Amino acid sequence: MAAVSQTVGTGRLIHVQHPLVQHKLSYLRDKDTPTVHFRKLVNELTLLLTYEATKDMPTEEVEIETPLERMTAERISGKKVAVCPVLRAGVGMLDGVLSLVSSARVGFIGLYRDEETLEPVEYYVKLPTDLAERDAIVLDPMLATGNSSAAAIAAVKEAGAQSVTLVCLVAAPEGIEHLQAEHPDVTIVTAAIDRKLNERGYIVPGLGDAGDRLYGTK
Ligand code: URA
Repeated sequence: MAAVSQTVGTGRLIHVQHPLVQHKLSYLRDKDTPTVHFRKLVNELTLLLTYEATKDMPTEEVEIETPLERMTAERISGKKVAVCPVLRAGVGMLDGVLSLVSSARVGFIGLYRDEETLEPVEYYVKLPTDLAERDAIVLDPMLATGNSSAAAIAAVKEAGAQSVTLVCLVAAPEGIEHLQAEHPDVTIVTAAIDRKLNERGYIVPGLGDAGDRLYGTK
Protein backbone atom coordinates (compact mmCIF):
# COMPACT_ATOMS: atom_id res chain seq x y z
CA MET A 1 0.00 0.00 0.00
CA ALA A 2 1.45 3.40 -0.93
CA ALA A 3 -0.17 5.95 1.37
CA VAL A 4 -3.28 6.02 3.48
CA SER A 5 -4.76 9.45 3.83
CA GLN A 6 -7.34 9.93 6.52
CA THR A 7 -9.14 13.01 7.70
CA VAL A 8 -9.61 13.45 11.42
CA GLY A 9 -11.66 16.56 12.17
CA THR A 10 -10.38 18.96 9.57
CA GLY A 11 -6.81 17.65 9.81
CA ARG A 12 -5.33 15.39 7.18
CA LEU A 13 -3.03 12.56 8.16
CA ILE A 14 -1.00 10.80 5.47
CA HIS A 15 0.52 7.52 6.61
CA VAL A 16 2.98 6.43 3.92
CA GLN A 17 3.10 2.65 3.75
CA HIS A 18 5.11 2.21 0.57
CA PRO A 19 7.33 -0.91 0.86
CA LEU A 20 10.50 1.15 0.38
CA VAL A 21 9.50 3.43 3.24
CA GLN A 22 8.65 0.56 5.56
CA HIS A 23 11.85 -1.30 4.61
CA LYS A 24 14.06 1.67 5.37
CA LEU A 25 12.14 2.45 8.54
CA SER A 26 12.80 -1.04 9.87
CA TYR A 27 16.56 -0.40 9.63
CA LEU A 28 16.12 3.05 11.17
CA ARG A 29 14.39 1.52 14.19
CA ASP A 30 17.00 -1.22 14.67
CA LYS A 31 19.22 -0.34 17.64
CA ASP A 32 22.22 -1.88 15.86
CA THR A 33 22.05 0.48 12.86
CA PRO A 34 25.17 2.66 13.07
CA THR A 35 25.07 6.47 12.91
CA VAL A 36 26.38 6.63 9.35
CA HIS A 37 23.55 4.43 8.07
CA PHE A 38 20.97 6.07 10.31
CA ARG A 39 21.76 9.48 8.78
CA LYS A 40 21.49 8.14 5.23
CA LEU A 41 18.19 6.40 6.00
CA VAL A 42 16.71 9.60 7.48
CA ASN A 43 17.69 11.41 4.30
CA GLU A 44 16.18 8.76 2.03
CA LEU A 45 12.99 8.42 4.07
CA THR A 46 12.46 12.17 4.09
CA LEU A 47 12.86 12.27 0.32
CA LEU A 48 10.17 9.59 -0.06
CA LEU A 49 7.85 11.35 2.40
CA THR A 50 8.37 14.65 0.57
CA TYR A 51 7.14 12.97 -2.60
CA GLU A 52 3.83 12.32 -0.81
CA ALA A 53 3.78 15.68 0.98
CA THR A 54 3.97 17.57 -2.31
CA LYS A 55 1.54 15.46 -4.32
CA ASP A 56 -1.16 18.14 -4.43
CA MET A 57 1.07 20.94 -5.67
CA PRO A 58 -0.73 22.73 -8.48
CA THR A 59 0.64 22.39 -11.98
CA GLU A 60 0.19 24.39 -15.15
CA GLU A 61 0.50 23.51 -18.80
CA VAL A 62 3.56 24.76 -20.67
CA GLU A 63 4.50 24.45 -24.31
CA ILE A 64 7.86 22.76 -24.83
CA GLU A 65 9.74 21.24 -27.71
CA THR A 66 11.23 17.76 -27.45
CA PRO A 67 13.91 16.79 -29.99
CA LEU A 68 10.98 15.30 -31.99
CA GLU A 69 8.03 17.68 -31.72
CA ARG A 70 6.20 20.35 -29.78
CA MET A 71 4.06 19.22 -26.88
CA THR A 72 2.12 20.50 -23.92
CA ALA A 73 3.75 19.46 -20.65
CA GLU A 74 3.02 20.10 -16.98
CA ARG A 75 5.12 22.09 -14.56
CA ILE A 76 4.58 23.08 -10.94
CA SER A 77 2.95 26.47 -11.12
CA GLY A 78 5.02 28.99 -9.21
CA LYS A 79 4.47 27.47 -5.79
CA LYS A 80 7.16 28.63 -3.39
CA VAL A 81 8.24 26.41 -0.54
CA ALA A 82 9.99 27.05 2.78
CA VAL A 83 11.47 24.08 4.63
CA CYS A 84 11.69 24.60 8.38
CA PRO A 85 13.53 21.97 10.42
CA VAL A 86 13.10 21.94 14.19
CA LEU A 87 16.56 21.90 15.82
CA ARG A 88 18.32 19.65 16.24
CA ALA A 89 16.97 16.39 14.83
CA GLY A 90 14.90 18.06 12.09
CA VAL A 91 18.13 19.22 10.44
CA GLY A 92 18.88 15.59 9.59
CA MET A 93 15.81 15.65 7.33
CA LEU A 94 16.65 18.87 5.50
CA ASP A 95 18.68 17.51 2.59
CA GLY A 96 15.98 14.96 1.85
CA VAL A 97 13.53 17.75 1.05
CA LEU A 98 16.05 19.97 -0.72
CA SER A 99 17.07 17.18 -3.07
CA LEU A 100 13.51 17.26 -4.47
CA VAL A 101 12.58 20.92 -3.95
CA SER A 102 15.90 22.56 -4.64
CA SER A 103 14.57 26.12 -4.87
CA ALA A 104 13.07 26.03 -1.37
CA ARG A 105 14.17 28.56 1.20
CA VAL A 106 15.16 27.27 4.62
CA GLY A 107 14.15 28.46 8.08
CA PHE A 108 15.32 27.11 11.43
CA ILE A 109 13.35 26.74 14.64
CA GLY A 110 15.17 26.07 17.91
CA LEU A 111 13.14 25.02 20.94
CA TYR A 112 14.01 23.73 24.38
CA ARG A 113 11.75 22.34 27.06
CA ASP A 114 11.30 24.38 30.24
CA GLU A 115 11.82 21.73 32.92
CA GLU A 116 9.35 23.42 35.30
CA THR A 117 6.44 24.10 32.98
CA LEU A 118 7.41 21.33 30.50
CA GLU A 119 6.42 23.79 27.77
CA PRO A 120 8.62 24.39 24.70
CA VAL A 121 10.47 27.71 24.68
CA GLU A 122 11.88 29.26 21.49
CA TYR A 123 15.61 30.03 21.68
CA TYR A 124 16.32 30.56 17.97
CA VAL A 125 13.97 31.28 15.10
CA LYS A 126 15.24 32.38 11.72
CA LEU A 127 12.63 32.16 8.97
CA PRO A 128 12.63 33.39 5.36
CA THR A 129 11.41 37.01 5.24
CA ASP A 130 8.98 36.20 2.41
CA LEU A 131 7.29 33.33 4.25
CA ALA A 132 3.88 34.90 3.55
CA GLU A 133 4.40 33.92 -0.11
CA ARG A 134 5.36 30.34 0.72
CA ASP A 135 3.98 26.97 1.73
CA ALA A 136 5.93 25.69 4.73
CA ILE A 137 7.14 22.16 5.32
CA VAL A 138 8.07 21.74 8.99
CA LEU A 139 10.48 18.89 9.76
CA ASP A 140 10.42 17.16 13.15
CA PRO A 141 11.28 13.45 13.00
CA MET A 142 9.48 12.33 16.16
CA LEU A 143 5.91 13.53 16.75
CA ALA A 144 5.82 12.50 20.42
CA THR A 145 3.78 14.75 22.76
CA GLY A 146 3.38 17.17 19.87
CA ASN A 147 4.54 20.10 22.04
CA SER A 148 7.59 21.03 19.97
CA SER A 149 5.91 20.45 16.60
CA ALA A 150 2.89 22.51 17.66
CA ALA A 151 5.13 25.37 18.83
CA ALA A 152 7.18 25.24 15.61
CA ILE A 153 4.02 25.29 13.51
CA ALA A 154 2.71 28.25 15.53
CA ALA A 155 5.95 30.16 14.81
CA VAL A 156 5.69 29.45 11.08
CA LYS A 157 2.02 30.44 10.98
CA GLU A 158 2.74 33.63 12.91
CA ALA A 159 5.33 34.53 10.27
CA GLY A 160 2.53 34.21 7.68
CA ALA A 161 3.10 30.90 5.87
CA GLN A 162 0.33 30.20 3.33
CA SER A 163 -0.02 26.58 4.45
CA VAL A 164 1.86 24.21 6.75
CA THR A 165 2.66 20.52 6.32
CA LEU A 166 4.46 18.60 9.06
CA VAL A 167 6.72 15.81 7.83
CA CYS A 168 7.78 13.38 10.56
CA LEU A 169 9.19 9.86 10.53
CA VAL A 170 7.38 8.34 13.50
CA ALA A 171 4.23 9.65 15.19
CA ALA A 172 2.58 8.71 18.48
CA PRO A 173 -1.22 8.75 18.67
CA GLU A 174 -0.94 11.32 21.50
CA GLY A 175 1.08 13.68 19.30
CA ILE A 176 -1.30 13.33 16.36
CA GLU A 177 -4.27 14.08 18.60
CA HIS A 178 -2.53 17.11 20.11
CA LEU A 179 -1.58 18.52 16.73
CA GLN A 180 -4.96 17.96 15.17
CA ALA A 181 -6.62 19.72 18.10
CA GLU A 182 -4.23 22.71 18.03
CA HIS A 183 -3.59 22.96 14.28
CA PRO A 184 -6.49 21.26 12.46
CA ASP A 185 -5.49 22.93 9.19
CA VAL A 186 -2.06 21.25 9.11
CA THR A 187 -1.40 18.08 7.09
CA ILE A 188 0.75 15.49 8.87
CA VAL A 189 2.84 13.13 6.74
CA THR A 190 4.43 10.21 8.58
CA ALA A 191 6.05 6.85 7.87
CA ALA A 192 4.66 5.27 11.06
CA ILE A 193 1.98 5.60 13.69
CA ASP A 194 3.33 3.84 16.76
CA ARG A 195 1.63 2.42 19.85
CA LYS A 196 2.09 5.13 22.49
CA LEU A 197 4.40 7.32 24.53
CA ASN A 198 6.18 5.76 27.49
CA GLU A 199 6.49 7.41 30.91
CA ARG A 200 9.63 9.28 29.75
CA GLY A 201 7.90 10.73 26.70
CA TYR A 202 9.59 8.38 24.21
CA ILE A 203 7.60 6.86 21.39
CA VAL A 204 7.32 3.05 21.63
CA PRO A 205 8.39 1.00 19.85
CA GLY A 206 9.94 4.10 18.19
CA LEU A 207 13.60 4.38 17.36
CA GLY A 208 15.06 6.04 20.46
CA ASP A 209 16.37 9.59 20.52
CA ALA A 210 16.48 10.70 16.90
CA GLY A 211 19.00 13.51 17.57
CA ASP A 212 21.41 11.24 19.44
CA ARG A 213 21.19 8.56 16.78
CA LEU A 214 21.69 11.09 13.95
CA TYR A 215 24.66 12.82 15.48
CA GLY A 216 26.20 10.00 17.51
CA THR A 217 25.77 11.78 20.86
CA LYS A 218 24.74 9.73 23.89
N1 URA B 1 12.11 12.49 20.59
C1 URA B 1 12.87 11.46 20.15
O1 URA B 1 13.95 11.67 19.60
N2 URA B 1 12.42 10.20 20.32
C2 URA B 1 11.24 9.94 20.90
O2 URA B 1 10.87 8.76 21.02
C3 URA B 1 10.45 11.02 21.36
C4 URA B 1 10.91 12.29 21.19
